[in-house]
Amino acid sequence: MSTPVTVIGLGPMGQAMARAFLGGGHPVTVWNRTASRADALVAAGAARAATPAAAVGASPLVVLSLTDYAAVYDVLGDAGAALGGRVVVNLSSDTPHASRDAAAWLAARGAEQLVGGIMVPSEVVGREGSHVYYSGPRSVFEAHERTLRVIGRPDYRGEDPALAQLYYQALAHVFVTTLAAFVQGAALLGSAGVPAREYAPLADELVQLARSSFGEAARNIDEDDHPGELATATMMAAGTGHILDAVAAAGQDTALPAAVKSHYDGVVAAGRGGDSWTRTIDVVRKPRARSGVSGRPA
Ligand code: NDP
Repeated sequence: MSTPVTVIGLGPMGQAMARAFLGGGHPVTVWNRTASRADALVAAGAARAATPAAAVGASPLVVLSLTDYAAVYDVLGDAGAALGGRVVVNLSSDTPHASRDAAAWLAARGAEQLVGGIMVPSEVVGREGSHVYYSGPRSVFEAHERTLRVIGRPDYRGEDPALAQLYYQALAHVFVTTLAAFVQGAALLGSAGVPAREYAPLADELVQLARSSFGEAARNIDEDDHPGELATATMMAAGTGHILDAVAAAGQDTALPAAVKSHYDGVVAAGRGGDSWTRTIDVVRKPRARSGVSGRPA
């Protein structure tokens, strides 16, 4: 028989996951704070649990899809002894620290945690292209890999519970910052009356060019060797200065280009302007080391 699965948290993501498990032939139990959000799933064959404890007790595999880890404690705080022996697949977003703390909190209650970072929007869950990072105990992942495949291709990254969260955050950052840069470019060209649709295919080409530099950039970073043969930090500081000036002259928001320029300026201020642009890794790692730019307090 297919492994019974409980899904707790029925926002768009939890609903999509519960539907995928039902479609995969798994007995599914659901619980949500706002009970009416379970109605359509119950009509489709899921069992409705009356309490979080009943939901946790119904299945060996408990999938959480909550807004953050504060919600996890709000919900599971009442589950008590039902948690003993369960595997909690925590697909709620939060910080890496929160994932480590939750692993210890669950272990103290006899449960094991797999942390997941789901890399697609809810409408892609359970379909081609759906992809989820996991971290936590390898044996637990391997025991449930087949079931987890129902919601997306599982990609195990290591034992540290924080890893899935870190992969999720790092890659989501690449995604959202690329989108933000795209919008900024549209605004800049729009200031001269150029429609975004004319610029979109050109931006697409540029993103592909950026992608082609990832391999060499990764080598520089891993080997801490930043030969400034082509794009030096000084050249990039000048270039990003021109972007910043153009955005300011258009009367538009300068926060993003100023932040990017500050990385190159930090390298130049440290006397390493002749190195490759990848030297910015030092500035990003230790923001307080550079003058005039303050990092977020640790
Ligand atoms: P929503 O914010 O729509 O849903 C969150 C769920 O958490 C709801 O079921 C809500 O219950 C519940 N919840 C929040 N706070 C509490 C609380 N204090 N006590 C009990 N229940 C609580 O989120 P999504 O479904 O969109 O996303 C879920 C997770 O998946 C998030 O961590 C999100 O970052 C992540 N994610 C979502 C993606 C997406 O496309 N939606 C993509 C990638 C990741 P109620 O219905 O009662 O409000």
